[in-house]
Amino acid sequence: MPRVWVRKKDSDTWHWCKNCSNYPTGSDVVKSDKKPTYGELDNECKAKEKAGDCTEDDC
Ligand SMILES: [Zn+2]
Repeated sequence: MPRVWVRKKDSDTWHWCKNCSNYPTGSDVVKSDKKPTYGELDNECKAKEKAGDCTEDDC
């Protein structure tokens, strides 16, 4: 399943777990279907992935 990275337009932090408490929603989000080459990867998403508790966006 392809992964989608999402960030707020005014943030450099990328999220990819839908169940992250900071997962960006709304109209001012940027999506990428490739691993971002800039910005930061969210620590909570990293932790969730490591724990096998990451619900990925599938659209
Ligand atoms: Zn996150």
